Amino acid sequence: MTASDEQGVDAVEIGREASTWSRRKFIGAAAGAAAGTAAMSLTGWLPAFRVPAAGAATPPNFPSMISLYQQAYKNWAGDIAVDAAWTCAPKTPADVVAVVNWAKANLYKVRPRGMMHNWSPLTFTPGSSDANIMLVDTTQYLTSVSIASGSPATVTAQTGVTMDALLTQLESAGYGLTATPAPGDLTLGGVLAINGHGAAIPATGETRVTGSSYGSLSNLVTSITAVVWDSGSSQYVLKTFARSSSACQALLAHVGRSFIVSATLQVRANYRLRCQSWFDIAWSDLFAPASSTYSRKFSNYISSSGRVEAIWFPFTNTPWVKVWTPTPSKPLFSKQVNSPYNYSFSDNLTSDETSLVSQIIGGNPSLAPTFGALQISVVGAGLIATGTWDIWGWSKNSLLYVKPSTLRVTANGYAIITSRANIQRVVNEFATTYNTKLNAYKAAGKYPMNGPVEIRCTGLDKTNEVDGITAAGPPLLSSVRPRPDHTDWDVAVWVDILTIPGTPYAAQFYREMEQWIFSNYSGSYATVRPEWSKGWGYSSTAAWSDATMLGTTVPAAIDAGQAAGAKFADARAALDAYDPSRIFTNSFLDTFLP
Ligand SMILES: Cc1cc2nc3c(=O)[nH]c(=O)nc-3n(C[C@H](O)[C@H](O)[C@H](O)COP(=O)(O)OP(=O)(O)OC[C@H]3O[C@@H](n4cnc5c(N)ncnc54)[C@H](O)[C@@H]3O)c2cc1C
Repeated sequence: MTASDEQGVDAVEIGREASTWSRRKFIGAAAGAAAGTAAMSLTGWLPAFRVPAAGAATPPNFPSMISLYQQAYKNWAGDIAVDAAWTCAPKTPADVVAVVNWAKANLYKVRPRGMMHNWSPLTFTPGSSDANIMLVDTTQYLTSVSIASGSPATVTAQTGVTMDALLTQLESAGYGLTATPAPGDLTLGGVLAINGHGAAIPATGETRVTGSSYGSLSNLVTSITAVVWDSGSSQYVLKTFARSSSACQALLAHVGRSFIVSATLQVRANYRLRCQSWFDIAWSDLFAPASSTYSRKFSNYISSSGRVEAIWFPFTNTPWVKVWTPTPSKPLFSKQVNSPYNYSFSDNLTSDETSLVSQIIGGNPSLAPTFGALQISVVGAGLIATGTWDIWGWSKNSLLYVKPSTLRVTANGYAIITSRANIQRVVNEFATTYNTKLNAYKAAGKYPMNGPVEIRCTGLDKTNEVDGITAAGPPLLSSVRPRPDHTDWDVAVWVDILTIPGTPYAAQFYREMEQWIFSNYSGSYATVRPEWSKGWGYSSTAAWSDATMLGTTVPAAIDAGQAAGAKFADARAALDAYDPSRIFTNSFLDTFLP
């Protein structure tokens, strides 16, 4: 049995059968995470083995000039794994087109493959009978970047470039982003597919800088090049879509139903950010009711700096609060940082943490409170030992702070769209409900959650934040697409809850939270859309599997308030028109985006 056998098969099984949990299965599932953890020792898991293409099973007629091999595939949480996935590494966009036309002729599906750090089954569907899938690894060759000055400046990048590489090259040229996902080892293609986001809304009095958006990275796109069907030549071809054309709207955040080869994004002048951390605010004060006069409540940090993340470990009292503030000159007591990933203590587990993870996954989930307490104490001690409670430097050096060596957990995720005046109400209701539920489970001897809650805010994908062109519209499927009927809703509160894959009762807990989230944040107060990359659509046994969520609730959440012609079905139809043979799909997407 290969390492991947051990990590993958059980993990997939567990993801689907959490309710029929047994100790053996939990251990099996967690072995994926633990193997990741151990290998991470924590240095991060990489698909270790590659088998050159040979033999009878080799996909027939594959273009000979393109490198073809079998390689292990494993997603971030280790709960979707395939031992020997057929993978190719095209050197040019024309090679990608050749692969796609080969796939059509030979009845294969094509899945673009970035860093494999997604959670949701957009590449492989666990437990499906998906066959004839060709992964296209964009990370080896499709990584070119060119930057053009202007107002706004733009960067044209192939989609296999990592955010690390992209932001480093932008920094060298004097540019940056207002916000970006926390890890840098994600590809641009992966981030755009799911409208990747960071944490920023305007602080009180802050003016938007040319070339920036407070929405998702998909809203930075000024043009995008995709592989699409051309009925004239009866072939798949490369086609570039301008943001000024409504034809691009479905491609900007396509949730796995396209292949983007490159994109041009507006970028802003680079700037320096200060990031301060606190771990002395009680969660009940940070997430106090909106009426609270407490000065350090969440919304007050939002008002003063616009950029906040709260990381709240289960059964603990004081979350880790990070607050970023654009700060041109170094404050006297800030530590200057010249590279990203400054929180080494959260990227690498201590031996005590490793031991507790082992015990939790070894069948003692009731250690979750001990683990939570240890984690926040490691954060507190780490911030002090590394002097990183107050850091300052070029923007990317504090915007990127999660490394692959961090504990590999699973997560749910939602964007709650509302008005900024409601932010404190949103976080108060969420934190209170989560805490009540967590303790009710505990009273019943159940500990489904052993990772933190994470809360951030962004703006929405507003077209008036696209500079220099008249954007035809927002990304149709973006979780943070504005609601034309609710111009008062101008922010998204992103909430995630993390836990080790396979933890008993996790799916049940996630489902109850999801049902509450969708019913609570509704009406004239707020609306909810899934964070595509994470867990959503929970049945009581698994994510991405509740028929009502997939078929009704989520499409309705995308549709609500949108004009005819710009709804979920219109996005689906546009993606289908670009890919009528449904080359870019899998069985999960065939259910959700049929
Ligand atoms: C620890 C961790 C922290 C994270 N933090 C954040 C965060 O702060 N903010 C945030 O928004 N997200 C976050 N994410 C989620 C992450 O942004 C997404 O999962 C992203 O899709 C992963 O990129 P990838 O390169 O690993 O893509 P993969 O996992 O390889 O692919 C993901 C999806 O993108 C598609 N895709 C990849 N390349 C292309 C392409 N060229 N054309 C079309 N489709 C393509 C794939 O087919 C697949 O459907 C986080 C993930 C992890 C593991």
